[in-house]
Amino acid sequence: MDFSVSEKMQTILGMIDEFVDKELIPLEPEFLTTPSTSLLPLFEEKRKLVRQMELWAPNHRKEYGGMELNLMEHALVSESLGRSPLGHYIFGCQAPDAGNIEILHQFGSEAQKEKYLRPLVDGKIRSCFSMTEVELPGSNPVMMDTTAVKDGDDYVINGQKWYSSSADGSEFAIVMAVTNPEAGRYMQASMIIVPTDTPGFNLVRNIPVMGHAGEGYFSHAEILYQNCRVPQANLLGAEGHGFVIAQERLGPGRIHHCMRWIGICNRAFDLMVARARDRIIAPDRKLAGKQIIQSWIAECAADIQAARLMVLHAAWMIENVGKKEARKEISLIKFVVANVMQKVVDRALQVHGGLGMTDDTILAFYYRHERAARIYDGADEVHKISVAKRILKEYEGKRVR
Ligand SMILES: Cc1cc2nc3c(=O)[nH]c(=O)nc-3n(C[C@H](O)[C@H](O)[C@H](O)COP(=O)(O)OP(=O)(O)OC[C@H]3O[C@@H](n4cnc5c(N)ncnc54)[C@H](O)[C@@H]3O)c2cc1C
Repeated sequence: MDFSVSEKMQTILGMIDEFVDKELIPLEPEFLTTPSTSLLPLFEEKRKLVRQMELWAPNHRKEYGGMELNLMEHALVSESLGRSPLGHYIFGCQAPDAGNIEILHQFGSEAQKEKYLRPLVDGKIRSCFSMTEVELPGSNPVMMDTTAVKDGDDYVINGQKWYSSSADGSEFAIVMAVTNPEAGRYMQASMIIVPTDTPGFNLVRNIPVMGHAGEGYFSHAEILYQNCRVPQANLLGAEGHGFVIAQERLGPGRIHHCMRWIGICNRAFDLMVARARDRIIAPDRKLAGKQIIQSWIAECAADIQAARLMVLHAAWMIENVGKKEARKEISLIKFVVANVMQKVVDRALQVHGGLGMTDDTILAFYYRHERAARIYDGADEVHKISVAKRILKEYEGKRVR
């Protein structure tokens, strides 16, 4: 495997690293203490600079104004942007829009592309993905109560969703709803585009997550769909193909998430090492002199490097062998990287002592918000079971001595 980074990518990554350091990290104290919606003008200024540098929407297609980097290239960009919670948003490649953009590209009609995809890639609007339900297990989403029933030229949607990330302020939601209850388990649901100003789209609340409800892009909503009527033309892809399309959304999305988490690891690691070097714990003694801290530094460095190589390998597998063939690798990185991130952020916070618990560094934000990484996009346990089943199958009929 070739680990060299092309000259083009070295230049791009250098520019992004510098931008994150000079323009985004200095914004974080304000971001941590001010509602993010009141910072939108400031965010727009930064986005303008990104566009001027021609670094906007690195993973999206050129015809829509993106850079069209391939998966491996965008993985490296995602790592760099992950060093600040503002990175992906300011560069126009944030979840859940990035995933919605992918599926609108692949499955959207020309009219849907003009109306929703173009302004979404442009950063003029935002969107959310509304699948998980309050009363049913997100880990087994084929259990779904939300229905979309045909009535004339429309679908009428009823159901209760939650954790529709970034719904607050979104222009539209892509909603998973049962349209074909008589079909096989995986062919019952469809994806339907629902503009958020449709009567019957009721944003009940932004859910407090680890004590913070957030707002705007940085929030997760509970939504009640009550006789929410949209034209049948808002169906995305074929009827009953909701889960087929959802699968398409997952592979590359996991690479983006995991590399963003590696970026978080890198940031937390930098802060940990710097603090250990600076903190005086006794006259003439620094924290970094303690073997237990040295052991944490070494362990975290090893864990980050191993996790990073696993993600790059999974990205390489997707690009060179295929998404389907890379399913084991994609599941492996999901739980490995989420756990490495949790460990590294926790160790960094511990090294900072009381300071780590405050919002005077970014660590407490990461600690609060990134715990969810072990739950969304498939909980650890679900991925472990899936990996184990694949491995057990690989061993079927194998003679091992
Ligand atoms: C911050 C955040 C953002 C999210 N964003 C979105 C979004 O934008 N759109 C959206 O639709 N959803 C979103 N989700 C929802 C997410 O996809 C679900 O929370 C996830 O799928 C788990 O579903 P659940 O919460 O219903 O837990 P459950 O399915 O009830 O599972 C609970 C726990 O049970 C265990 N478990 C589950 N199944 C198994 C199994 N087969 N074997 C062993 N153990 C098992 C796991 O430990 C799991 O954590 C988000 C969630 C969070 C926390």
